[in-house]
Amino acid sequence: MIPGARLIILGRQGAGKGTQCVRLSRHFVVPHISTGDMLRAAVREATPLGLEAKKVMDAGGLVSDDIMIGIVRDRLQAPDADTRGYILDGFPRTIEQAEALDEIAHSLRKPVDVVLDLNVPREIVLERISSRRVCRDCGTNYTSTGNDPQTWICDVCGGDVLQRDDDTPESVNRRLDLYEEQTFPLIKHYGDQNRLAVVNGVGHPDAVFERLVKAVDNNRR
Ligand code: ADP
Repeated sequence: MIPGARLIILGRQGAGKGTQCVRLSRHFVVPHISTGDMLRAAVREATPLGLEAKKVMDAGGLVSDDIMIGIVRDRLQAPDADTRGYILDGFPRTIEQAEALDEIAHSLRKPVDVVLDLNVPREIVLERISSRRVCRDCGTNYTSTGNDPQTWICDVCGGDVLQRDDDTPESVNRRLDLYEEQTFPLIKHYGDQNRLAVVNGVGHPDAVFERLVKAVDNNRR
């Protein structure tokens, strides 16, 4: 039986978390839980949460800690995450969220195995995001060559591939500033707990994936 895992992945917008999480989720046979994808699904379905989150997301802000903690608490108790584990992407993003997650993991008696920090410098992620296109339905990421049409059809699910509403230069810069302000302290938080593995995210996606798997295998207890 392939062992499951309970993983968190940190990293700047555009560091490649989405792409790598799809692979990690297959490798460890655990659900990829992306809070950004969950919020975008709520926006598409126009639920009360989606309507509230849309404004904040388009402006590049953060949805409130209370809301996010509630969503993640529920999701981690679903049978797949409860039995196999998860790769958590986009959460925690603030110290308050990290402390709440410590409590949730403790009360479920299921501590996080490894926190991965997928490290890519700001100049590189800025370049990547300007050419990033995403499938509206399944979240698959694509890179625009600059010569392709505004939208195209997803190879994986047939959905529309487009630029995210929040991938404008203003919103991206704001999110990167917020990342530095709010999420950098998490690196210290998990470093102090001895759970952090910093992984170089620059290079071919296959090479980055190998580094991530090695980091999980070497660091989990
Ligand atoms: P990015 O990392 O590029 O900002 P995500 O897909 O992870 O993209 O998230 C998109 C948006 O959803 C964020 O900019 C933020 O507004 C909101 N969001 C996602 N996760 C969280 C979270 N843990 N706390 C607060 N807001 C969140």
